[in-house]
Amino acid sequence: MTDRRSELAANLAGVEDRIAAACAAAGRRREEVTLIVVTKTYPADDVRLLSGLGVRQVAENRDQDAAPKAAACSDLPLSWHFVGQLQTNKVRSVVTYADIVQSVDRSRLVDALSTAAVRAGREVGCLIQVAFDAESGERGDRGGVAPDGVPALAERIAGAQGLRLDGLMTVAPLAGPYAGDPRASFDRLMEISSRLRADHPAANMVSAGMSADLEDAVAAGATHVRVGTAVLGVRPRLR
Ligand SMILES: *Cc1c(COP(=O)(O)O)cnc(C)c1O
Repeated sequence: MTDRRSELAANLAGVEDRIAAACAAAGRRREEVTLIVVTKTYPADDVRLLSGLGVRQVAENRDQDAAPKAAACSDLPLSWHFVGQLQTNKVRSVVTYADIVQSVDRSRLVDALSTAAVRAGREVGCLIQVAFDAESGERGDRGGVAPDGVPALAERIAGAQGLRLDGLMTVAPLAGPYAGDPRASFDRLMEISSRLRADHPAANMVSAGMSADLEDAVAAGATHVRVGTAVLGVRPRLR
C-alpha cells in the first residue's frame, strides 16, 4: 500500500463508520444511503486509488478540472456527478462524462442540457438544486432555485428529451432562516421531495449532507451524501 492509499482507506473507513452509525441511529438500513466522494481539487491518481478501494460514485464541481479527470479515469467503473454551478457554455462538455447533474436550477440550463444530451446520445440524470437562502423566484448564493420554483423545473426536466428527473439536492445554507441549522433545511428538503414524488415517483434521490453535516442528512432521510474533505483531506482555500 502506498501512503496515500492507506490514508484514503483509513479516511473512507471513518466516513463509512459515521454513515453506518447515523443509519443505525435513524433506524435506517445502511443500503439506503449512498456515499458520493467529492474529488474536486484532487488529482486523477486519487480517484484511481478510491476506485480501487471500492468507491463507485464521485463528484466534481468545475468542468475544467472534471473533464480531463474523467477522461483519465474512463477505464474505471465510476459514476460521475456534477455538483457545481453550471454555465450553459460548459454543458456540452459536462454531458459527455456526467451521469448525473445535481445542480440543475433554471429552465435555460434544462434546455441546454437536453440539447447537449440528445446530441451526445446520452441520458443524463438531473437533480434540482434547492436553495434555502433564495427568495421566491431567485437563485441562491451558491446556486439552486428557491423552493417554490421546484414544480415548474421538475415539469420542464420531465418533458425534456435526453434528461431523466432523479430528485433533489441541497447544500445547507449559510444565510437565511435555516443558516446554522442544517437538520432543519434537510427536513424541509424531504418535505419538498415528498411533494415532488407525488407527481414523479421515480424522482426519489435526495442528495444532502457533506463532511460536516452528513449525520443530519442521514437522520432527515437523505439517499445520497456528498463527502469531500473527510475522505481526501482539507482542500486549499478558494474553491
Ligand atoms: C465540495 C462540495 C461537497 C463536499 O464538501 P466537504 O465539506 O468537503 O465534504 C459537497 N457538495 C458540494 C456541492 C460541494 O461543492
